[in-house]
This record gives sequence, C-alpha cells and structure tokens, in this order.
Amino acid sequence: MQFDEKQFKSRLTKVFDRNGFSSMLNMERTEKFLALTKILLEENEKYNLTAIKEPNKIILNHYADCAALADVLPKGARVADIGCGAGFPTLPVAILRPDLKILGVDSTAKRIAYVNMVKDELSLGEVEAITARAEDLGKSELRESFDIVTARAVAAMRVLTELCLPLVKIGGQMIAMKGKNAEFELAESKKAISILGGKLAATHMIRLSDDDEEIIHPLIVIDKKAKTPPAYPRAYAQISKKPL
Ligand code: SAM
Repeated sequence: MQFDEKQFKSRLTKVFDRNGFSSMLNMERTEKFLALTKILLEENEKYNLTAIKEPNKIILNHYADCAALADVLPKGARVADIGCGAGFPTLPVAILRPDLKILGVDSTAKRIAYVNMVKDELSLGEVEAITARAEDLGKSELRESFDIVTARAVAAMRVLTELCLPLVKIGGQMIAMKGKNAEFELAESKKAISILGGKLAATHMIRLSDDDEEIIHPLIVIDKKAKTPPAYPRAYAQISKKPL
C-alpha cells in the first residue's frame, strides 16, 4: 500500500506532541515508525496482522497508545509482552525505549516470525520474540523473572492475571492495557490477583486524541507482592473454564 511518507512523519510528530510524548520521538525513531508502517501494511495484505489499515489511525491507535505504556515503564526494565500478536506493544515500545530488554510472546508462530523479521529490518537490539503459551512460560525457568509483564487485548482480566502474574518477579509489576469493561473485569479479578501474589497498585486512565478521534482506556497496574503458589498457572482449559 502506497502512502505519503512526508505526511506520515509530520502527522506522527503532531500526534506525539499533542499527547505529551514528543520527548520520546527523534529523527531516527520517526524513520523506524515509517519503516514499521510500510512493513505492517505490506505484510497485512498477506496475513491478517491488524484490522487498522489507515496510517493516521495506526499512529493514534497503535503508536500513541503504545507510547502511553512506554512512558510509564521503569528504566532498564526486563519486560515480557504477553500475546504480542503483530508486535503491539512490543515493537513501538522497543523503538521508543531502547533501554528496555523486551521479550514478545505469542502462541501464533506466524505473528512471531513477523515480529522477528521487523526486529531485524529495524535493527531493534534488545527485542526478542518467541512462540509460546504464557501459561507454559509461567512454569518454565522464566517464572518470576521479569520486572514488568504487559498485555494488550489478550484476555479478560481474571484470565490474564493467571497468564501474566506468575512471570513477574517480586517487586515487579503486571501492566494490562484494558478496554471498556475494565472496571467490571477488575472487580471480578480481585480474588485471582490476591491468590497469585498481586495487589492492585493503580489504574491510569489513558486519554489520547488526534484531530479526528479520542481514545480513553485504562492501564491497570498490579504489584507483585508475594510468590505465586506452585499450582499456578494451570492449563489454559482450566484457566478459561474455571477462572480464579
Ligand atoms: N497485543 C496485540 C495487540 O494489541 O494488537 C495482539 C492482540 S490479539 C487480539 C491477542 C493475541 O494474544 C493473539 O495474537 C493470540 O495468539 C495471543 N494469545 C492469546 N492467548 C495466549 C496465551 N495463552 N499465550 C500466548 N499468546 C496468547
């Protein structure tokens, strides 16, 4: 798909400025977002990577949205992004925060191959993407090894907590990028959070806009306070059929 590159770069700068993220953007990162967009649109014609196909919408809904997360991550953190799909938030966060060490995780090999291809094309150093199920990783040597575990649009909070919290080290955080039902989902996940060693730390409301659209959704932050009991995470069928 062809698009106006000059217009793209100016729109990206404008949207980042408007939403308070201009300090994270520079010429090199702008070029990387341009390259990412070209690859995403090209590959999207072969595989279904994103439902959002219009560059201006990609800037707000994918890049600015991921910038809101990048903005709150601690310096030098080791991050796992569960259910990263076509690299969201993994890839924009890697562009904006090269100080982080990020592991993108998804159960679909095709999406992970795409993320690793982009990583090479954009020379994103500290990113790796692996095909795996989060609940299997939670039982592996990676259990309780991450400072931060993020997820966007992966599962309801009760299920997501069991996928993510076992991977967070004590003192670290799970950060869930949630949608409209967040308040309800959070209320029904209180027991799961507590059983798995977590404590609700904060809900940050993200408000982003461009000239055409406004996005409002929360980032739910859970502190990891205690070790996750060895029985968790369970197999996915149990997690989803009998959520904690
Ligand atoms: N985070 C991306 C985004 O915001 O565009 C992708 C969201 S997509 C709706 C959900 C992704 O989560 C899918 O790519 C799916 O394969 C992955 N997923 C769901 N359950 C998973 C699990 N248990 N372990 C790993 N990946 C999982």
